[in-house]
Amino acid sequence: MPTNRQILLDNRPQGEATVSNFKLVSVQTPDLQDGQVLVRHHYLSLDPYMRGRMNESKSYAAPQPLGEVMIGGTVGEVVESRHPKFQPGDRVVGMGGWQEYSVVNGNEPGALRKVDTTHVPLSYYLGAVGMPGVTAWYGLVKIIAPKAGETVVVSAATGAVGSALAALAKARGCRVVGIAGGAEKCAYAVNELGFDACIDYKQHTTLAAMSKAVKEACPNGVDGLFENVGGLVMDAVMLRMNAFSRIAVCGMIAGYDGAPLAMANPALILVNRMKIQGFIVSEHPEVWGEALNELGTLVAQGKLHPRETVAQGLEAAPEAFLGLLKGKNFGKQLVKLI
Ligand code: NDP
Repeated sequence: MPTNRQILLDNRPQGEATVSNFKLVSVQTPDLQDGQVLVRHHYLSLDPYMRGRMNESKSYAAPQPLGEVMIGGTVGEVVESRHPKFQPGDRVVGMGGWQEYSVVNGNEPGALRKVDTTHVPLSYYLGAVGMPGVTAWYGLVKIIAPKAGETVVVSAATGAVGSALAALAKARGCRVVGIAGGAEKCAYAVNELGFDACIDYKQHTTLAAMSKAVKEACPNGVDGLFENVGGLVMDAVMLRMNAFSRIAVCGMIAGYDGAPLAMANPALILVNRMKIQGFIVSEHPEVWGEALNELGTLVAQGKLHPRETVAQGLEAAPEAFLGLLKGKNFGKQLVKLI
């Protein structure tokens, strides 16, 4: 059995996360028992939710235990199997964690899923046709529920969730406006992701300036906000929201490293009779099949082809993860492990 390199959570962050919170170790992979499958990971997914798991505070999920392999989505291939449903060479997606190999119980529901790479690249099963894509689908379809012609705004627009959101909202006939950090990301949003407009929040550092930029990009106001960031960006969009508008609260990345996130004008919720709903995608398994189907079709049709930022080698994962929390990634952040 192969030697397996792993990254463990060694200690919890005090404020900002740092590379010293992680530890790289090598272990021997155990022999397979009946029903088990050995998977060699090709890609590891890095996602903002991992930052929350590094803390010990109360949340929707249990904290990542110290001294254990960091949680994470993976895609790879079966290299050895003692389960009749899985054969060597099968391409699979699972939650293998920050390591090069995983031993998976093939009988555990949802632990390992075979995927078809004929029309969808393997890595996309961690992004556009994976958890982030379904996240965009759930918030848009089930919470914002836009009508054709309505305006939908999304923050962290060029990331894994935002890029899928753009394709899904365009497919429903919406005007889609992104908010992203920097001119290069905004040009990519409009030229490659299909956004109708994109606002560079780094150019608008006050509430008044940002809100003016939202007004210009959304001449008919905002009917749906898919919120990934929180803070000033969210406050600015809220000032431009229409009566009976909807906010899907998906993420608050501006606060993940501990910065306080106040809401400037909560009275707008009442004045505009707004619906605001948070959600966690893993709590809605009932929509995954329908959502993945639509997302896979959009990719196969060339209507959703987001970029990826790929770090090379397991040892690069901590730096790449910290970069994701600071917006250094351009599209879905992955680590290539082979
Ligand atoms: P991204 O690929 O979008 O990467 C994160 C992006 O967030 C960065 O590229 C950066 O973009 C932006 N960002 C980082 N820090 C800040 C900051 N301080 N202020 C403003 N923007 C910042 O990640 P995902 O697409 O995977 O995730 C997007 C959001 O969705 C996250 O908030 C995540 O937690 C949430 N999420 C929620 C789920 C749920 O079930 N509710 C499931 C999956 C994701 P830029 O350079 O443009 O600022």
